[in-house]
Amino acid sequence: MSQQQRMGGQPMIILGEDSQRMKDRDAQSHNISAARAVAEAVRSTLGPKGMDKMLVSSMGDITVTNDGVTILEEMDIDNPTASMIVEVAETQEDEAGDGTTTAVSIAGELLKNAEDLLEQDIHPTAIIKGFHLASEQARAEIDNVARQVDPEDTELIKKVAETSMTGKGAELNKDVLAQLVVDAVQAVTVEADDGETIVDLEYVNIETQTGRSAGESELLNGAVIDKDPAHADMPTQFDDADVLLINEPIEVEETDADASVQLDSPDQLQQFLDQEEEQLREKVDKIADSGADVVFCQKGIDDLAEHFLAKEGILATSRVKKTDLGFLREVTEANIVSDLDALTAEDLGSASVNYDEADELFYVEGTGDESHGVTLLLRGSTEHVVDELERGIGDALDVVSQTVSDGRVLAGGGAVEVEVARRVREYADSVSGREQLAVEAFADALELVPRVLAENAGLDSIDTLVDLRSAHESGDETAGLNVFTGDVVDTYDAGVVEPAHAKQQALSSATEAANLVLKIDDIIAAGDLSTEGEEEEGGPGGAPGGMGGMGGGMGGMM
Ligand code: ADP
Ligand code: MG
Repeated sequence: MSQQQRMGGQPMIILGEDSQRMKDRDAQSHNISAARAVAEAVRSTLGPKGMDKMLVSSMGDITVTNDGVTILEEMDIDNPTASMIVEVAETQEDEAGDGTTTAVSIAGELLKNAEDLLEQDIHPTAIIKGFHLASEQARAEIDNVARQVDPEDTELIKKVAETSMTGKGAELNKDVLAQLVVDAVQAVTVEADDGETIVDLEYVNIETQTGRSAGESELLNGAVIDKDPAHADMPTQFDDADVLLINEPIEVEETDADASVQLDSPDQLQQFLDQEEEQLREKVDKIADSGADVVFCQKGIDDLAEHFLAKEGILATSRVKKTDLGFLREVTEANIVSDLDALTAEDLGSASVNYDEADELFYVEGTGDESHGVTLLLRGSTEHVVDELERGIGDALDVVSQTVSDGRVLAGGGAVEVEVARRVREYADSVSGREQLAVEAFADALELVPRVLAENAGLDSIDTLVDLRSAHESGDETAGLNVFTGDVVDTYDAGVVEPAHAKQQALSSATEAANLVLKIDDIIAAGDLSTEGEEEEGGPGGAPGGMGGMGGGMGGMM
């Protein structure tokens, strides 16, 4: 205990009574086990043979999914270190759209291997440095092994979509769905002036409908709006409609929130009602005068206004989702009007609008030159099926759009991981000191992917890894695992292909998260730190870790 920590011989207490503190190895072990627990929770979902999880929220809502980020987000994790690993999945989802299970599993494996090194008394900073070097090298090696794709090569791009769908709800109809995904991406792909390929996924809307099979999903030009006409007497078919998009209610304007109206006689009541009717009449007249044939309103429409609109031969629907209204703006080229008084014909867009009674959907196809947007109408038997389908298709859209814009793909089924691990091991020879051990540990962590793919397929993971390594040693860079037969095959030729960008992103976010966890040598918690399986606390008098020259006996005092 150093001098400054005592004043006048009295320990100075700076932490509250309930607070807890854990240091050095205790802190590291605590954090590493929390992080690994998260990684282990999603591992069994990896790959085509991965299983699904059923998550039941505190409200009783059920989600059945295979999607890493969804599992972690629904899991209600309140351990701070575990949350850092959940962030890996979220970053991966934002940056790449797919590969979340891979990223989280690798982060967990890096920490597992780091723990072994810590036990051999290797300092965390050496491990952090080694992991960082190895991750940079691995990213560079991905550049080296990636193959260029021609954006026109739809056969190959379709394989990318199929690989991302395998093991998901979308798999059963992957032939149809992969084609829809590729078509959707191509519909929103433009070549910029500088020759760069730009994919704008904002112009792809996903709409879901239960009741029919996933194989009946379709790609449609324009928007599909899941609403009904506001009034039974409204027309429902327009080949070339002038479309009004409005985000204010078509209702009587309330004068004051809690104004009450004093009515003394039946006459007054009539007068009052007449006034309201007049107001609605005026609003509908403004809409009719602008020339609008179809109205999509984000807010409510008064019953009487609906009746007037129907009389005018106008098709209207209320409470359209805000995002749908935004998408309709792209499709119809209308402005979104927020004040009926300022409405002019200029604000209207143009589209064919057809309400399908059987589907209970509006089909809106823009007729203007600048109309953008396509809709993937996903169908499935039940809500759970459709939800999981939507997640799978979302991932596939992301990877296909990346493949088209970035143009680089890799052989999946563990092939790229084994190859990059081999190259990183070679690189380790050039790294001196204890960092070398960390670089090697990084390479080992990459091989988790083929090991878990094998494990999840009920294969022997050690045999599989031995076979894969020897194939790569003899120069077969794209040798991966056929999870269905257990054979080592050229996964690139077999059509198991993944975008390079997502893999690079998975490695960086996994490494960063692992390093973040390893850097912590002191946990100071305002409340209770204990989690299950954590009986021993590193409290007062806890064993000194011997790192950073900090002594023990630190709980609650300095
Ligand atoms: P993630 O959330 O990481 O994308 P997935 O469950 O989607 O996890 O699994 C992705 C892994 O499955 C990748 O390593 C990919 O190469 C592999 N994979 C996908 N399809 C196949 C296949 N047909 N054969 C072997 N491996 C496959
Ligand atoms: Mg995936």
